[in-house]
Amino acid sequence: MLQIYNTLTRQKEYFRPLHEGHVGMYVCGPTVYGDAHLGHARPAITFDLLYRYLQHLGYKVRYVRNITDVGHLEHDADEGEDKIAKKARLEQLEPMEVVQYYTNRYHRDMELLNVLPPSIEPHASGHIIEQMAFVQKILDHGYAYVSNGSVYMDVEKYAKDFPYGKLSGRNLEDIKTETRELDGQAEKKHSYDFALWKKASPEHIMHWPSPWSEGFPGWHMECSAMGTKYLGEEFDIHGGGMDLMFPHHEAEIAQSCAALGHDTVHYWMHNNMITIAGKKMGKSYNNFITLEQFFRGEHSLLTKPFSPMTIRFFILMAHYRSTVDFSSAALEAAEKGFARLQEAYQRLQKLQATAGATTTDAASVLAEKCAEAMDDDLNSPIVISLLFDSAKRINSVFDGKETIAAEELEQLRKVWQTYAIDILGLQLEGASAGGDEAQTQALHGAVDMLLNMRLEAKRNKDWGTSDKIRNELTALGFNIKDTKDGFEWTL
Ligand code: ZN
Repeated sequence: MLQIYNTLTRQKEYFRPLHEGHVGMYVCGPTVYGDAHLGHARPAITFDLLYRYLQHLGYKVRYVRNITDVGHLEHDADEGEDKIAKKARLEQLEPMEVVQYYTNRYHRDMELLNVLPPSIEPHASGHIIEQMAFVQKILDHGYAYVSNGSVYMDVEKYAKDFPYGKLSGRNLEDIKTETRELDGQAEKKHSYDFALWKKASPEHIMHWPSPWSEGFPGWHMECSAMGTKYLGEEFDIHGGGMDLMFPHHEAEIAQSCAALGHDTVHYWMHNNMITIAGKKMGKSYNNFITLEQFFRGEHSLLTKPFSPMTIRFFILMAHYRSTVDFSSAALEAAEKGFARLQEAYQRLQKLQATAGATTTDAASVLAEKCAEAMDDDLNSPIVISLLFDSAKRINSVFDGKETIAAEELEQLRKVWQTYAIDILGLQLEGASAGGDEAQTQALHGAVDMLLNMRLEAKRNKDWGTSDKIRNELTALGFNIKDTKDGFEWTL
């Protein structure tokens, strides 16, 4: 039975969904004002693993991952320019052009990483009315106040009735000392009060009318409003990166309790952070590497390009609650490891059962151990090490050193399909082990296209074109075989 670590209770708990057979899951998505980087890849892959595993267990999962396109200011303490609006100003674009552009690029990167799309992907800007209604509820319950057109959470008042800071393990005193004194705080009662609605300054380009002012919702509000809209006032899982625990998730809890009188989320899950060559990721360290730069090898810290599958595999090689340190050397090692799995998988497809071999329980034991590891708070590194053990056996049979019975071979293929491909989401089918999948795909597409053109030429009795395509591909090292359904080729 699946156990997951609940950040709120600080222990592993058996997962019991609110509604039998169904799971509601919310994960904080990206603020779309720049290209996705490793910090985006890790939560996306972590919760993709959970999403895949829950479905494997037979649950019907409603997975909501939002797009933040308004209200996320440069400083989490409600100050500075809106991140999207700033980019729009610098690039002389409509804010929604910025949002669309980076959302498209985010989707492309996620697809390359084989991250499944969520069931619902709501935009904050599309849920202003829901957010206003949520703010109004908090005001009605007396846990917020209006000041100069903005609405702030009255944290001190809230903390008298509910435990503020319970998720991150902070108390109000810690929070008081942590909160920076910034401009505009004169309108707050206390520095740690956070904005539920902000009055827009004249230069602020994204704003909506509200009972309090022409303005925009506070960043934390969107997840409270959209989470409850699509998953109900109580739902199963809320996830995100550890960096979101405070203030973002703590604020979400406060907003829910203040508006609804109770907690919304049953299991809070957080993935740990990524460092690059031992350092925190950040623009000031010049180690802020986007996913595209990884895929193309275009950064001074990278020795070569790394395929999306190498990145995915490397992230899954660590447990999601451990830190991961990225370096070119570590990625090169992961690339080699992935190539070994890929080779074993491809050999597994070609293996022939040995006549007369007795069936062992190796494949069923492997399946059991993989399930046990996944049930233990998604222990993907154990699953990967089990697959490496299994690869040794596959290679040994492939080399004729061991035998395998038909039944066991079939079971083994099923285990690899389930755990390596369906659950870990590794694309092991690719033709060139350890190569760049994107390039391989492009190559396959191009050669298929040329050979389809050749088929058409043949149908039109255009022998000149048909021969030219064949001869030139052959000269480039392709072996082309005509078959009754069309063609086959190898390089
Ligand atoms: Zn959020």
